[in-house]
Order: sequence, then structure tokens, then C-alpha cells
Amino acid sequence: APRLLHPSLQPSRVEVELTQQPKSKPDPSTLTFGKTFTDHMLTIPWNVLTGWGAPRIQPYRPLELEPSAAVLHFAYCLFEGLKAYRDSQGEVALFRPDMNMKRMNTSAERLTLPTFNGDGVIELVKKLIRLDKDWVPNEAGYSLYVRPSLIGVEPTLNVGPPSDALLMVICSPVGPYYPHGFKPVALYGTTEYIRAAPGGIGAYKLGANYAQGLVAQRMAAKLGYMQNLWLHGPDHLVTEVGTMNAFAVFKHPDGVVELATPPLDGMILPGVTRDSVLALARDHVAGKSNIPGLSEKLIVSERSIPMKEVKEAARAGTLVEFFGTGTAAVICPVDRIGYLGEDVHLPTGPDGMGPVSRPIWKHLVGIQTGTIPHPWRVPI
Ligand code: PMP
Repeated sequence: APRLLHPSLQPSRVEVELTQQPKSKPDPSTLTFGKTFTDHMLTIPWNVLTGWGAPRIQPYRPLELEPSAAVLHFAYCLFEGLKAYRDSQGEVALFRPDMNMKRMNTSAERLTLPTFNGDGVIELVKKLIRLDKDWVPNEAGYSLYVRPSLIGVEPTLNVGPPSDALLMVICSPVGPYYPHGFKPVALYGTTEYIRAAPGGIGAYKLGANYAQGLVAQRMAAKLGYMQNLWLHGPDHLVTEVGTMNAFAVFKHPDGVVELATPPLDGMILPGVTRDSVLALARDHVAGKSNIPGLSEKLIVSERSIPMKEVKEAARAGTLVEFFGTGTAAVICPVDRIGYLGEDVHLPTGPDGMGPVSRPIWKHLVGIQTGTIPHPWRVPI
């Protein structure tokens, strides 16, 4: 069917149905990631002829889908992950939600699912979180994880752009990724499988990326590693750390310290944390802002990082640190990489994080939790 001009997503049309059975809030110390959901959810239907329908905030409940729903067969499924944090005054704010909406729209385009006005969805997400505000934990290191998703729901066994879609947002209170302080992780350098390829889907947050990646994760776990490191192509280019972006810090002979991460070449997920780390480091180097404790003799680069370079720098003592970045963990230090049958040992700081990641992490978490004022924090 041709895509007709259709109504855009209109937050003002929202219908709210409050829960009659509010759930009891969990003891924060018992939370496991992504297993507990708040009282309400947001759903917005879409149809190719009628466009975006009325948004609905309603009690969290199972969906009704036909067994023929396209998503169940052809993986028309994409999602996002962002967090809302409380500040010391108890106020709740989202971290850079515009970035997630932008990424969600590029994912939707990649899957021939409908795009939408991101600001409209942010407005509705704010409304949803205001309703479930008591679910946003107060404790340090805790937050509310917000999970938007978009699926193709047309009942059809025919492969084609779905005529019907459903945008959903659910919320889950989560604890700190490191309940007992920062613990560096060991990675298995995966050369048996690939996560992404040029022209593929690695740069988009599609469910299919995660389903296909588990086999590498399982292999890493079997061999005694926490996560896998995706190495791409004949040069074994460092691409991503499990489901995080990868950063390496090198010390060059002239004393310059380089913070490097792979470029957005179509095989890297454009992480919001990645972008934030790069922006903060670049502003610091340019003198536009100051990150206490971070060297000024820093260069920031987006460039390919062959695993051989990491291994040789680690041997030569010129590798300063290696870490992953993502919404869940923020920064995740790495102390070991299993690579072609041997273990490459990487330096870590006294408390896990190194001299570059620690000050950046502190600053970033300060912005997220409102102790450092910044426009990236968007009050609900
Ligand atoms: N890479 C992959 C494959 C991911 O799933 C994620 C998590 N969304 C990231 C990187 C980090 O992205 P972000 O900083 O936006 O959480």
C-alpha cells in the first residue's frame, strides 16, 4: 500500500487510564536489571492509512498480538534505552532523550517502520514518568531505565513494510551496574562471528542485532570471560565491547595521551554515552569546560583501532586504559582480552578506572544526577 499523508504523532490526543491495582514498590537492594516494571506504560498505534493514532497511557499489561504479527516472523523490532535520574532535591530528569529519539527514528527508517516526531514522544514519556514518579529510586547509583520500542504488528506472512506498527514505552527501576564498586571485566576477542558488516544493521538499535550476538557472548562465557569484544575484518578492528562502545587510551612518545574510539562507519552503534564522553573530552581540551583531574595534553580521535595495536601497546606499556561505554554501566573498565589463544593484560587504575576514564565518568555522572548543571539533563 502506498504511504499516504498521515497525521503526525500528537501528544495532546493522549488518553490516560490509571491503574486500579498499584503494585508494591520493590526493595531497591533486590532489583535485578530489567525485571521489574512500573505501574503504567505508553502505547501509540500506527497504521499506514490513518497514521499515528491516539497515544495511550495505561496500566502495564500484556499485549494482544496475532500469531501472524509480522514482528514475530521477520523481526520488525527496534528499541532504545535511556535513564531518568533523581537529583539531591528529589527532582527527576532524563539524560539526553533527544539523542535516543533521533537514533530510534534512524532505526525505524532502516526497518521501513514509521518515523515520528521525537519531541512528541519525549513529552509523553515525561507524562508517563510523572505518573510513575515514585518508582524512580532515590538511592545513589539507582535510576529509572526507560525502554521505548517499535514493532511491526500487521498480521501477515508476507514480507513487506508492515501496514501497522506499535510504539511502546515501559519503565524499569534499576540499580547500579557495579553494586560493590568498579570491577574491571575480562573480554574474549571474538573472531569467529561478526556483529556488523558494511551496509548491514550494526549502526541501528534493532532487536535482531542482539539475538544474533548471544552466541558469541555464550562462547566468551564458556571460556571464562565476562563479555565478548567484537573484532572486525582481517585487521581485527576493535568495534564494540559486547553491547557497549569501545574506547582505548594510548600514550605516545611525545607524551601526548590519545583517547580513541572507532568511527561511526556504519558498523558502530552511535552510543549516547560515547557521544557524551567525546563531547566532554573535546570541550575540556578546547578549554570550553574543565573536567577536574583530566590531563590537558589529550587528543581525542575517532579512528580505527586494530587489535594488534592494543596488544602491542599493552606489551610496551603505552596502553593507558581500555573501556566500554553505555547507558547501563556508563563506563566499564577492561583488564584482560583473550586474543587468538593468549591473554592480553591491560592496565587498570587503583579502583578499576584509569586516569582518563575516571575524571570523565565523575563529570558525566555529575551531569546525569544533577550535581553539575548541564542542558543534557531534561527535567520531566
Ligand atoms: N553498542 C551497543 C551494541 C549497544 O547496544 C549499546 C547500548 N545501547 C551501546 C553501544 C551504548 O549506547 P548508549 O551509550 O546509547 O547506551
